Amino acid sequence: MLSSRMKHIQGTSRAQTLLLPACVDDYVGPDHVVRFIEAFVESLDLAAAGFERARPKATGRPAGYDPSGLLKLYIYGYLNRVRSSRCLETEMHRNLEVIWMMRQLQPDFKTIADFRRENKTAFRKIFREFVVLCRSLDLFGRELIAVDGTRLKAVNSGQRNFTKAKLAKAMDESDERLGRYLKQLDDADRDDTPPSARVDNLKQKIAAIKERRAQLEQHHADLEASGEDQISLTDQDARAMHFSSRIGVGYNIQIAVDTKHKLIAEQQVHNNVGDLGLLDETANAARENLGVDRIDVVADRGYYKIEDIEDCEAAGVKPYVPKPLHGSVVKNGFFTKEEFRYDADAGVLICPGGQKLEPKYKSKIRDNDAVIFVNTKACKACDLRARCTNAAFRKVMRYANEAILHRMADRLAARPEVIDQRRESLEHPFGSIKQWMGQRNFLTRRIENVRGEFSLTALAYNIRRALTLVGVAGLISAISA
Ligand code: SF4
Repeated sequence: MLSSRMKHIQGTSRAQTLLLPACVDDYVGPDHVVRFIEAFVESLDLAAAGFERARPKATGRPAGYDPSGLLKLYIYGYLNRVRSSRCLETEMHRNLEVIWMMRQLQPDFKTIADFRRENKTAFRKIFREFVVLCRSLDLFGRELIAVDGTRLKAVNSGQRNFTKAKLAKAMDESDERLGRYLKQLDDADRDDTPPSARVDNLKQKIAAIKERRAQLEQHHADLEASGEDQISLTDQDARAMHFSSRIGVGYNIQIAVDTKHKLIAEQQVHNNVGDLGLLDETANAARENLGVDRIDVVADRGYYKIEDIEDCEAAGVKPYVPKPLHGSVVKNGFFTKEEFRYDADAGVLICPGGQKLEPKYKSKIRDNDAVIFVNTKACKACDLRARCTNAAFRKVMRYANEAILHRMADRLAARPEVIDQRRESLEHPFGSIKQWMGQRNFLTRRIENVRGEFSLTALAYNIRRALTLVGVAGLISAISA
């Protein structure tokens, strides 16, 4: 009878002598991605991109490792979910693809980590160089981009982030515990028995609480001096994000995705908690990266800010942003502002009841001039008032430049499909970065380092996407074209 072992495919004996291909170039096939990384990095002017030690000194000691080798290593690593310097060091000793790419050089993890820190701003330029390469292959539609943000965790736990309210609560708790322990110490002192281990224990606890209280006071003073509304102790630039994002302390990542092939045209890292106010900066940078004078951008309601919409239009970016559905008017089901028609000739608003609301007060909303329209007499006698306001009369605010918002509403009404295009275009990069690339957190601290890190992430995403679209050979031939 055959043994069960004999029924399966057998491996090679460990005692058998094997030879790897004699030539290192045979380690990887002709269509392997490392051949593209090699060709791409070799085509770049790393000195112009700002890489340290890109030009070796003519005399003196050797300038250390060529940045092109370390850049290739990082691009390979971010493409293959290997981001830490220690893991990259390990790959150089066991991974034939990396051995091929690095020409058998084996810098240690510190050299690798230092390279990422020293060249943080240069990575952004490499991301842009790849966008230019994709443009040459016509992979960007350059007509419609979708902008959105996500949050990624920083190297900072929630326990090491404080708002003023959190500090006040922590200090109150310290005071309460301190008071309790002091009372217990008093009670123990009144006893005639000699000092016990319990008294020593209480004294230690009291000293620890006082030390903690002093630290909290220092954090409070630092927070007051910073003018910020929160302070992070491990990564000072990280911020506690919305609870709905379930990220805790992190960074706000903004991307602009071209809707043709879902390639990232622009990426930015901010520490703003919300997205409001980030549309123009992201969309306009994407427009420049794509090399066009005019482009359309679609974003969700979180970007609805008249100043941003105005700046976009002025810069050649035509925004499509739906109006937010919140506020007391929406909550109470009252007539919305859109149901009040502006009569430009008469300079009045015509309400749903057909009454004229006159400009009554001037106002400032952020830096925008606005006017409040009212008609107290008509409202008091109006049968529709219960559907319009729960006050004695309805006030309607109108920006001086409100026409911008009306133009945008008209554009959206004429082209509602852009809302679905936005969702479909953004799901792919965000899903890929978090699921496929496994990047839910940053490894570096401080916003400039994090920006460099995310440039590598976005570059890796774009490379992966372009490889799917045109393959290694297509990308390499575009480099040599
Ligand atoms: S309550 Fe005032 S603003 Fe509203 S419908 Fe009546 S008259 Fe017009």
